[in-house]
Amino acid sequence: MRSCSLCIVLSLAVAVYCVPVSQVTVQDEGFAESYLKKFFNLTEETGSTIRRGISPVTKKLSEMQRFFGLQITGMLDADTLEMMKKPRCGVPDSKIARFSTFGNGLKWEKNSLTYRIVNYTPDMSVSEVDYSIEKALQVWAKVTPLRFTRFYSGTADIMISFGRLSHGDYYPFDGPGGTLAHAFSPSSDIGGDAHFDDDETFTFRSNRGYVLFIVAAHEFGHSLGLSHSDDPGALMYPTYSYRNPDTFVLPRDDVNGIQSLYGRNPEKDPGQPGPEAPTTPDACDSTMVLDAVTTLRGEMLFFKDSFFWRSYPQSNTPQQSLITNFWPNAPTNIDAAYENRQSDRIFLFKGRRVWAYSGYEPVRGYPTKLNRIGLPRGVRKIDAALYDAESGKTLFFVGDYYFSYDEARRTVDRGFPKRVDQTFFGLPGKVTAAFQYRGFTYIYSGPYMFEYNLRTGRLYRVLRNSYFLRCTNF
Ligand SMILES: [Zn+2]
Ligand SMILES: [Zn+2]
Repeated sequence: MRSCSLCIVLSLAVAVYCVPVSQVTVQDEGFAESYLKKFFNLTEETGSTIRRGISPVTKKLSEMQRFFGLQITGMLDADTLEMMKKPRCGVPDSKIARFSTFGNGLKWEKNSLTYRIVNYTPDMSVSEVDYSIEKALQVWAKVTPLRFTRFYSGTADIMISFGRLSHGDYYPFDGPGGTLAHAFSPSSDIGGDAHFDDDETFTFRSNRGYVLFIVAAHEFGHSLGLSHSDDPGALMYPTYSYRNPDTFVLPRDDVNGIQSLYGRNPEKDPGQPGPEAPTTPDACDSTMVLDAVTTLRGEMLFFKDSFFWRSYPQSNTPQQSLITNFWPNAPTNIDAAYENRQSDRIFLFKGRRVWAYSGYEPVRGYPTKLNRIGLPRGVRKIDAALYDAESGKTLFFVGDYYFSYDEARRTVDRGFPKRVDQTFFGLPGKVTAAFQYRGFTYIYSGPYMFEYNLRTGRLYRVLRNSYFLRCTNF
């Protein structure tokens, strides 16, 4: 047995995410040390010197910070500790790459593989489990020459089972939460097998519990020879995110990974490419046009496609996540977003609909329609929204016009809409995103960001996305 790949994780994340760690304690140092030993192959006993940044701890901390896209300080700072405390998969992450394999060309030397579902979870019906497993294998078969045949008895290449705590290998599960499943890399015997922790609640497609299809598709990635990816959009990223099983398409990074081992699917008709494998937005792409920008409880959120970057005051390096990691029922590719600090709510807009959250909790009565919150019926979509802290009003940008909106009264103010260029001079085109930060008003048009004083209308600077959204290429 070459390596055991423990996987996936739970989304206690929400609670962990929003509490910045201010003080590093002795316990934290011990915790960090064991984390580095487990996942980054730290070998030397270091006692409590970790915070002082003595090599090789510095080296391993830097490696870990680089993997997760954190600022590379070599020190146990708050961001790093926060990342370490996130529930995660058990496979080491020391490879600095997008996708990665287990090395030494570890893969199956045949394209026809067999699988067997040995037992079932009580959480789902037998047909739901069968369907989820079959669909999870097809995720990989679609893009490779790999083909899977089901066995109903005897020994298959990939033996699939559900178990609790000690379940017959040397890697006992940990009860509810923490590790959700693990799988073994390609080899005979236990190699390729996938085990699911039956102390978790698995679901068919609900975002309450863990979608078996998603967990299984990740595990089968290990069964076929993939290790973890540092691409936060990849299926092989170490932490679990809810994804809608009905619309799931294997991300580009995972496609590249599995094709590096097995090649492309020869049966795939190039004329019918099917849905494009999604790529993860890149902060270093200077042509990127953001979907929406808002603050949330002192942080800045930058939305693009299915993702957002989160930049908080203690950190220099924004972290990228899937939107569904924080708000499982939220839309992707949103049009606009704003935060009302008075009511401590964040609003996301897409088409004629608006979603509201109090922090990460959905607000009752949402999603609702734009005209239900008092916008004129002719408004089909919002291009951008910003909350003006001084007046307590929200500005909605729609085409060449903008509205001032009173959230408490749920009405548009008199004298609106106004032309955007009446107030904001110098914009080259349509407003694509907007927000306020530290008293300045930022209006985005394409990849540019214009810094205004809203009271005087004065334009201070023209900046690019990279001003807040630091590009961490080096
Ligand atoms: Zn994993
Ligand atoms: Zn096991």
